[in-house]
Amino acid sequence: MDFKNSQEFALKLDKADPLRTYRDAFHFPQVNGSDVIYFTGNSLGLQPKSASGFVEEIMKDWRELAVEGHFYAEKPWWDYHERLNAKLARVVGAQEREVTVMNTLTVNLHLLMVSFYRPKGKRYKILCEEKAFPSDQYMLQSQVRFHGYAPDDAIIEVAKRPGEHFWRTEDILQVIEEHKDELALILMGGVNYYNGQVLDMAEITKAGRATGAFVGWDLAHAAGNVKLQLHDWDVDFAAWCSYKYMNSGPGNLSGVFINERYLNDPEIPRFEGWWGTKKETRFLMQPRFDPIDTADAWQLSNAPVIALAPYLASLELFEEVGMDALIAKRDRIVSYLEFILAEIDKEVESTFEIITPADARACQLSVFLHGEGKSLFEYLMANGVITDWREPNVIRLAPAPFYCSFTDMYRFGQILKMGILDKTGN
Ligand SMILES: *Cc1c(COP(=O)(O)O)cnc(C)c1O
Repeated sequence: MDFKNSQEFALKLDKADPLRTYRDAFHFPQVNGSDVIYFTGNSLGLQPKSASGFVEEIMKDWRELAVEGHFYAEKPWWDYHERLNAKLARVVGAQEREVTVMNTLTVNLHLLMVSFYRPKGKRYKILCEEKAFPSDQYMLQSQVRFHGYAPDDAIIEVAKRPGEHFWRTEDILQVIEEHKDELALILMGGVNYYNGQVLDMAEITKAGRATGAFVGWDLAHAAGNVKLQLHDWDVDFAAWCSYKYMNSGPGNLSGVFINERYLNDPEIPRFEGWWGTKKETRFLMQPRFDPIDTADAWQLSNAPVIALAPYLASLELFEEVGMDALIAKRDRIVSYLEFILAEIDKEVESTFEIITPADARACQLSVFLHGEGKSLFEYLMANGVITDWREPNVIRLAPAPFYCSFTDMYRFGQILKMGILDKTGN
């Protein structure tokens, strides 16, 4: 379709958008008296208007029922987390019994490595992408040191080619092949936080598993953003935070996927706690651990229901809309954003370079600003465009399809143009 850089055209796209009413289901921060243009749903999703009601329900039950809320609240707390599993399974393409919600992301990846990083003999290496999200780097380094290895030796990072901003699947597959006898684990980010690239999770999982290594994915930027088929891809395990595209609230709980072949598998060790035991016998307080036969067996502590509540509120929205509709809008709005960037680039003769590969992108465009510096970013923020800045010179723009409008993209273009003209004194 031919796009136009006009308010009228953007409005037409909004009118034709089947998800247009969902904008009103979220709270928008205000700058200069109007809704911000929010590009950081990849960092912290907006608050669903329904979230506070879900939280208040728990607060009320706690006020009025206290300990009895565990069993007698309308949504009892002892199995509250189960309300999330089926909905979440649909978002990530899993069987219901393969997912659970617990802890936070980095904690969960460490716990999953207890199960799936068990180096032995010459199979002790972990493969990941170069410059992974810092928490993942620290996590992998500390894991290999914990097992007595040196990070420089035990962690293999797949590099991008010189001068390129993205990974080539063929390069990843080749590094896997080169190290096939040494790999204990492949653990990568499904969508890279910096360049927004979606890795070929199906291919990499297949190649990785064929070597005999376990394959896990950090889906922080993928959950609620891309079509995942964790079960069909035969992924071993995965985890994701819920506060980015999944709009569950700052620092909130993490989802976990464990392939059903490992449920009830005595060969797979894990760290255990009382919330992993069968709930029917849990309160008999027996000394023997009697695992739930789902991914819930990996839970340690009783679930923080006040935190689960806004995640459940958000999942109800995902359930209503479905990933396919979200992805259809995502592709359209990102294409329109790309078009707007190109138009403004022409008008002001600037030099934006989109470093997100066109054939492997989802909601995010990472834009390298060759001409402008951090002052442009500051101008955008002061004028109601919430984006973020990554060194050395990259802004990340993620128009989350749930609540961003095509008119937002048009308005962004106008503010961007003003900002560049302002900075260059034209
Ligand atoms: C956001 C993000 C994290 C954050 O981890 P927390 O434990 O939730 O703080 C980890 N890994 C990646 C790839 C991320 O994008």
